[in-house]
Formats: sequence, structure tokens, C-alpha cells
Amino acid sequence: MDMQTQTSKDPLVSAGTPLVRFDEVRKSFGALEVLKGITLDITEGQVVALIGKSGSGKSTALRCINGLEKINAGQLSVCGRDLLARNFDLRDLRKEVGIVFQSYNLFPHLTVEQNVTLAPRKVNGLKGAAVSELAAEVLEQVGLSEKAKNYPEQLSGGQQQRVAIARSLAMRPRLMLFDEITSALDPELTGEVLRVIAKLAAGGMTMVLVTHEMAFAAKVADQIVFMHEGRVWEKGNGDMLADPTTPELRQFVGNGL
Ligand code: ADP
Ligand code: MG
Repeated sequence: MDMQTQTSKDPLVSAGTPLVRFDEVRKSFGALEVLKGITLDITEGQVVALIGKSGSGKSTALRCINGLEKINAGQLSVCGRDLLARNFDLRDLRKEVGIVFQSYNLFPHLTVEQNVTLAPRKVNGLKGAAVSELAAEVLEQVGLSEKAKNYPEQLSGGQQQRVAIARSLAMRPRLMLFDEITSALDPELTGEVLRVIAKLAAGGMTMVLVTHEMAFAAKVADQIVFMHEGRVWEKGNGDMLADPTTPELRQFVGNGL
């Protein structure tokens, strides 16, 4: 059965409506205001790269999208759900939004196949042959078909991160969030992970990625968002990095020094 077709028929999102819509979103931690009125639309199928200095609010913005952080003001809608609505259900949202972090946190005592199918088995009650079929499918997507029976410690960091991506894909998300997922990897392992992301992008997956890989962002992103001091400072397509408008972005990409 093709479950992809099921998830794409979401009655909550009509054609043309952004999958993610930030409208003057504010987020504070105590007295520290980290997001100072973010307005941003992400349409279905778009790849959005969030760039900016450390501390500019990129991870916080990303974490708000899947409800890991609760916004203080403004409006945020994700997959047709208003995150501040009284009847908002975080568990429903999390089924549609996958997130992958720098640390992949695989279970060491479970095989690759068991790791990637854990949530579908526990949350969706997947059983029997469907379990290994799903594992085969998502491991193929990340190029690790032959590692299904291996344990995480038998894999390289890049391979483990690709398993973490497969684990997210196994929930058939509508939207994938990636937070600096290559930052902990040795440079020679970064490419294999970026290639998986590029393949997902080519397949039409909607993605938001926080990344320091500027060349990669310029190549795969439909929309690049430069955050500075909790604001969307500048946004545009890949050309923006070669020709920044603001001095802050020029300095960030290292052109204006
Ligand atoms: P980035 O991902 O761009 O480096 P973050 O969104 O992680 O930025 O952080 C933005 C600011 O918010 C930083 O000053 C950070 O210290 C602060 N911050 C992030 N998370 C928390 C938290 N849970 N509690 C308090 N401060 C936080
Ligand atoms: Mg961060």
C-alpha cells in the first residue's frame, strides 16, 4: 500500500495554502526574547534553509514548528493546525512533522531495522511483513538497505545519521525539519548525508533545514532565510548569498570584509 498518498490528502490544508505559516511569532525564554516577530510562509514541496549566526534563533524557530517550544505571541500554523488553538493536538502534529538533530540518538541495543520501525510499531501499531517492508523502503531512501540487521555501533557517524533520517521517514511525515544534522560529522561523512537530503528534496519533500553548509543551501533551497537577532533579516533564493542586501548578511557570508 502506498501510504504516501494517504498523508498527502490532508483535508486541513487546501491547495496553495502554506504548510507552515509564521505570523509575527514571538518567543521568549524568561526575560530573553529570542524570536522577535517572525513572519514566514513555507509552501508544500519547498526546501527552506535557515542560516545565521549562533544564537540568532534558528533552532528555536525550528522547534516551534513541531511544538517542542511554545510560542508566546503571534500565530503559527503547521499542516493546517493553529498551534495556539484550544483543540490543538501535539501528538497529531508530531505524526506529520519529522525532526532530525545533530545527535542522532539511536537505540544501541536495537538493530537499524528495529530503530527505524520502532515508532510505526508503537504509535501506529504496524505489524508483521509490513514492518520489514517499511524498513526496506526507508533504508533504501537513505542508501542503507544492506545495514538493516546491523547495530548502530557498527556504522559510521554518517550512516547513523542516515538511519536517523530513515527513522523520521518511517512515520511518513509531511514536513521534515533538520537542525544542523551534519555539524557533528567529519567532513568526509557530511557529503553522504547532504546527498540524502538533496534526494528527498528532488522527491518533493517539504523541508526546513538549519545549516552552515552555504554552498549546499544555495544549491538545494528554494528559499533561504537569514536570521539575525531573532528576526528574519533577509530572505531570498540561492542568489541571495552571492549578492546580499544587508551588511549583516554580507558579513555572515564573508563577502563584505
Ligand atoms: P541558534 O540555533 O540560531 O544558534 P537558538 O535558537 O538555539 O539559536 O538560541 C537563540 C537564543 O535563545 C540563544 O541566546 C540561546 O541561548 C537561547 N535559548 C535557546 N533555548 C533556550 C532555552 N531552552 N532556555 C533559555 N534560553 C534558550
Ligand atoms: Mg541551533
